[in-house]
Amino acid sequence: MGPTNFRVIVVGGGPVGLSCAHALSQAGIDFIVLEQRSSFVIDAGSNLILVPMSMRVLGQLGLLEELKKVSSPLGIINRMDHSGGRLGSMKWFLYDNEYFGAYPRVISRHDLTKVLYQSLPTDTMPNLLPNKKVSDISTTTNGVSITCTDGTSYEGSVVIGADGAHSFVRERMRQLAIDNESPLLNEEKPFLTTYRCLWTRFPTTNGLTPGTTWETHGEKLATQLFAGVDTVVMCIYERLDEPTYDRCRYSKADEEALVGRWGHLPLTPGQTLTIRDAYKSSIQSGLVNLEEGVVKHWSWDGRIVLAGDAAHKFTPSTGAGFNNGIIDVVALVNELVKELQAAHAEPLGLAAESGKAQVMAAFKAYEASRKEPVIEGCRAAGNATALATWPNWILKFIDRYIFSMHVVQKFLSNQQASRTARAPAFDFLDSEEELVGTVPWIMPPKRKSVKSE
Ligand SMILES: Cc1cc2nc3c(=O)[nH]c(=O)nc-3n(C[C@H](O)[C@H](O)[C@H](O)COP(=O)(O)OP(=O)(O)OC[C@H]3O[C@@H](n4cnc5c(N)ncnc54)[C@H](O)[C@@H]3O)c2cc1C
Repeated sequence: MGPTNFRVIVVGGGPVGLSCAHALSQAGIDFIVLEQRSSFVIDAGSNLILVPMSMRVLGQLGLLEELKKVSSPLGIINRMDHSGGRLGSMKWFLYDNEYFGAYPRVISRHDLTKVLYQSLPTDTMPNLLPNKKVSDISTTTNGVSITCTDGTSYEGSVVIGADGAHSFVRERMRQLAIDNESPLLNEEKPFLTTYRCLWTRFPTTNGLTPGTTWETHGEKLATQLFAGVDTVVMCIYERLDEPTYDRCRYSKADEEALVGRWGHLPLTPGQTLTIRDAYKSSIQSGLVNLEEGVVKHWSWDGRIVLAGDAAHKFTPSTGAGFNNGIIDVVALVNELVKELQAAHAEPLGLAAESGKAQVMAAFKAYEASRKEPVIEGCRAAGNATALATWPNWILKFIDRYIFSMHVVQKFLSNQQASRTARAPAFDFLDSEEELVGTVPWIMPPKRKSVKSE
């Protein structure tokens, strides 16, 4: 696509904001990214699992080979109960490989953001601005105006809010809806928290090899352990006494108290590694609330749109957060490209008031395509966390005896595969289909050729 006067301001340079930067750059759309932190590469936060639908589009962006170098494939998930009794194994990741030609991979947030950041074209680097905390957004006749806490301001055509679960952009959208007495009003606190999560990363030692996966299930608390190349991540899910819509910040003392309550539980069989052992050797840790929910309205007036955690939040049990966030980026940028190509001949492009209707159409089409899969993903993640934490005897029974059956897992994986196959790819990029399994993707990219495995 040739140059237009359309400019996107991405607020937030986390994994989803950086994915936006790649997509916009590949689409030839002018953009800047405003990030409040001092660096785009973050050495903090839990490790993440990448699944085939996102690995596929990361491949389209030319990033998959680099990401493979710093991530490990995951195979069978071994499970046990609080006393170390075996609960059978889960073959989800094996079925992913069968259906889509790739095992999910575990990667640290540091390595993910590093690859995303460092692989951006050199000429786009000046467009990535750290130390820019956005503090105001106003809409203008021709677009948007953004102010940061350091007093700087930026003009653009639209804003993409990729600023996470506690999104300022979402807050600002709500205020605009109130000011304009619009029915498109989001809830002030759209996410409900039922669980908190203590995550910790520690070196890949203790006899753990990259790719090893263990889960411990039981009343009120479940754990997941994924061993990566250099670090292992442990996530502990603890059910709260009462669900809450309120934000909560935890201290180191809260982390230690949780380890005090549950530190004796095994992470691997034979008590070789307990929660307390893992916490003691941790390089990093954090205690966070696991908000869940899908925001009702994802855009405002053809000027502001949300993506990633700003629009939806899942428990991490199924590794759905970033994986859905990057698919948001695909769907959104595909729609924008379509409208920009249609408007390209017009001198004002889409930036001016005359093009607002087209941008609104793009935003609505994006939201319509993403809502159903995201609601389903949120439900599935919540169910997975509930099953693992045995809130009642029915779920305990299902988790212990039904889910351990590989025939049940295969049936559910099949259902999931038909949803995964509908995930979009970038439709403006010429690329090879990198992931090929037994289930064909419904929306293949424009193909140069299909790789033979
Ligand atoms: C324990 C745990 C395990 C997880 N495991 C997985 C997994 O296995 N797979 C998976 O896909 N997902 C996983 N997730 C979820 C995943 O981390 C998130 O979905 C993902 O980080 C969302 O990316 P994002 O860019 O939308 O938001 P964020 O990662 O929250 O990034 C938002 C960015 O915006 C910046 N920002 C915020 N406000 C402003 C402002 N006013 N101005 C400028 N910048 C601002 C922030 O500094 C940040 O860099 C996990 C989450 C947790 C907590």
